[in-house]
Amino acid sequence: MEREMTAQAAGAGDLLELSALQLGACIQKKEIGVEEAAQAYLDAIAQSDSEIHSYITVMEEEALQTARQVQKKIDSGELTGPLSGVPAAIKDNMCTKGTLTSAASNILSNFVPPYDAEAVARLKESGAVILGKLNMDEFAMGGSTETSHYGITKNPWDLSRVPGGSSGGSAAAVAARLVPYALGSDTGGSIRQPCAFCNLTGIKPTYGAVSRYGLLAYASSLDQIGPVGRDIKDCAAVLSVIAGKDAKDSTSIIDRAFDMEAALSGSVKGKKVGMPAGYFGDGLSPQVRQRIFEAADVLRSLGAEVEEFDLPNVDYAVPAYYIIACAEASSNLSRYDGVKYGYRSAEADDLLGIYYKSRSEGFGTEVKRRIMLGSFVLSSGYFDAYYKKALQVRGMIKAAFDRAFETYDMILSPVSPTTAYEIGGQISDPIAMYMADIYTVSVNLSGIPAVALPCGKDDAGLPVGMQLIGRAFSEETLVAAAADYQRATEFHKAQAPHAAKGGRR
Ligand code: GLN
Repeated sequence: MEREMTAQAAGAGDLLELSALQLGACIQKKEIGVEEAAQAYLDAIAQSDSEIHSYITVMEEEALQTARQVQKKIDSGELTGPLSGVPAAIKDNMCTKGTLTSAASNILSNFVPPYDAEAVARLKESGAVILGKLNMDEFAMGGSTETSHYGITKNPWDLSRVPGGSSGGSAAAVAARLVPYALGSDTGGSIRQPCAFCNLTGIKPTYGAVSRYGLLAYASSLDQIGPVGRDIKDCAAVLSVIAGKDAKDSTSIIDRAFDMEAALSGSVKGKKVGMPAGYFGDGLSPQVRQRIFEAADVLRSLGAEVEEFDLPNVDYAVPAYYIIACAEASSNLSRYDGVKYGYRSAEADDLLGIYYKSRSEGFGTEVKRRIMLGSFVLSSGYFDAYYKKALQVRGMIKAAFDRAFETYDMILSPVSPTTAYEIGGQISDPIAMYMADIYTVSVNLSGIPAVALPCGKDDAGLPVGMQLIGRAFSEETLVAAAADYQRATEFHKAQAPHAAKGGRR
């Protein structure tokens, strides 16, 4: 009784309404119990995930057990982190020891990893209570979460629309208040675009900032794990936990921690922000364009200097990305052969038959398309014409960003040319789906960080996202700008019509 009063006095109200950091603070102050928080979210999932379908696996028993252990460590003063005891959920392409990790593919529909991905391990060490694994496009290939073997996920803003992808389960779960924050992965926009479609904030970290150990690879030179959250503060807190050098991933670089506390109290004042003129032409929805220009005005009012500039090679980013991503995917996915782990066809009676039938039955259409495309561009005779040329274009795109960052501290752009579209609306036209990645893929090709955040709605009331892109390891600068923007605006506070309610007894 007394506990409840204090929580109410602290303005807690509906537990599900608290951000991850607010919930973490209530847990530290003993106003809310760790198990109580986990149970509130598990109840919400049981009640409303049947309409959203953001989870592939809910880890109810394990979550409650972890909650009790974490509570003890908080009580003894062993766990004092801002996210200790706060529930979290993980995109299903990150290994979780003892729990199905399917990458939303039939070929891994029986894969239970014996270890945690490094990002997951770091969350657990900091006292996160993992509630479950989230839906996604199969092997993170897609932008709508419609290619999952486990069925589609719906957008909590409009159940007839896609939540974006490939981290669509991560975004839908956070927007529907079925978890305070989630981990996603971004190979060509898969954290940022679903955040834009679901009115959330997300960070695609610099390549090498977060360990990829235990992330089921799609395109290894592009993949990065990052946070999906309700605001930039939550995302910054999560990034602080998961970032850092890991001996198990030789491409992880930084050995200093991001100083997010300082970043969050920083500002965008005096910063030079560039808007690539070529991003605002044909193909961009006029309403999205309008919202980005309004965001530019907000940044100006906060003391930033915003201007348009010419970023070259914009049109080549999507083709170069799809050649490189598919090439790497064709190599990465060759390990799924029905022998070592994962699905094996019951029909096969010899070795070649095992490979052929297991892969035919195990992979979905989009994954097969990309394996074929990737094998083609890597084959002798075509390697120079496609793969090598794409690598050269990648170099030119990176050089263009390097040049831009000689003048600008960050780049402001749309995340996606449209807001969330109807389920089934684009899936039959892969080229149209690929073209929609125009604003996100060049960030991955260049290995640089970007933050996606809400900047308003279109006429249909659907969220619009903006993106701030920075030079490698400038996460703190981007977080400072995003925090400043979110102090000045309310867009990130808007709640999806299909968000769960409750949690306070
Ligand atoms: N939509 C892009 C693709 O299909 C990006 C996916 C991702 O970032 N995982 O490749």
